[in-house]
Amino acid sequence: MNTTSSFPTRICIGDGLVLRNDHLVAYISYSGEPPAELLERLESINGEPAPSSSLLRYLQALPSTTSVAVAFLQLEVDVVMVGGVRLSYRDEDRVVRQEDGGPAQLVALPESVLSLVLHSAEAPPEVNTTSNLLLGTVPGGGAEVTLRTGEPRTSSGPVEAERTPPVDDGRDRLNLLTLDDPEEIEVQPLPYREHATSGRPKEAIVEGLACNQGHINRLSASYCSSCGRRLQDTLSVRKGVRPPLGTLILDDGSTFSVDRDYVAGRAPQQDDRVTNGAAEALAIEDPDREISRIHAEIRLDKWDALLIDRHSANGTYLRRGGTGGWLRLNPLEWHRLSDGDEVALGQRVLVFQER
Ligand SMILES: [Zn+2]
Repeated sequence: MNTTSSFPTRICIGDGLVLRNDHLVAYISYSGEPPAELLERLESINGEPAPSSSLLRYLQALPSTTSVAVAFLQLEVDVVMVGGVRLSYRDEDRVVRQEDGGPAQLVALPESVLSLVLHSAEAPPEVNTTSNLLLGTVPGGGAEVTLRTGEPRTSSGPVEAERTPPVDDGRDRLNLLTLDDPEEIEVQPLPYREHATSGRPKEAIVEGLACNQGHINRLSASYCSSCGRRLQDTLSVRKGVRPPLGTLILDDGSTFSVDRDYVAGRAPQQDDRVTNGAAEALAIEDPDREISRIHAEIRLDKWDALLIDRHSANGTYLRRGGTGGWLRLNPLEWHRLSDGDEVALGQRVLVFQER
């Protein structure tokens, strides 16, 4: 049985990388290039109950510019720290303790520890409470791992707590999930590196307000979204290449530039619009099995980013500006996204940031 759902892991805001696989959570602090070999090595650790001596030797030999804390998530949680990383943990009495990672330390946590934060700052950095990293490598300033749920915690299960559950339309939810084919799909590591390298979008030519550098903007814009120049003195409407309309931020910290159409879901690679190149796949992991293989779509239309539900079994939800109630979209009906809008597919949330 994998352990990913047993130890919810949240990302702290800051510099560095957080890596997670079925057996461990690691926080890596580095300067310069990301330590690719270290990441590969950690990613490939599989089913070892505790740090191996070869891993310890490898970590010991890391350059001083790289610090790492690895929590092995088994019944007994061991943490290895190298190079000045810190460990904060919450004991039953709510006291948060800190330990400095020395040259290399193996820390065995007391039984009562409820959660731990791996980080490098003096104090644990702020946790992004809407993120829950399941697998993969994402940017972050630390990682909070919930080891035991000894009592209700405000920081656990944030999405469930805030969201209105899907509207009960009288149909059995399990049947809906069955209809949507719950066959096991291969779980791919979460983006970070992959998405950063996805190909260029096809250029879309739109009519807009040009700055004196030739960048095209929305007609309502006051400043150029590409170079920041004021637009009022250079009033000229013409056709040009559309800039990215914004960014979609997934709850695990991964980002997607809104410069192309996306099909989102558990396995959007199968969608016709993806296979024919009209849209890019935005694959979202979903251990809760609430996301359809092809769930929703972000479609660009001139200066608008439109959200469309693609007949998903459990619905696509929109919360305007990230406040208020969740609206369940009717299938194939489009809604224009505005800055700060939140989109929920199952328990996963994307935030749209307009550019
Ligand atoms: Zn410009």
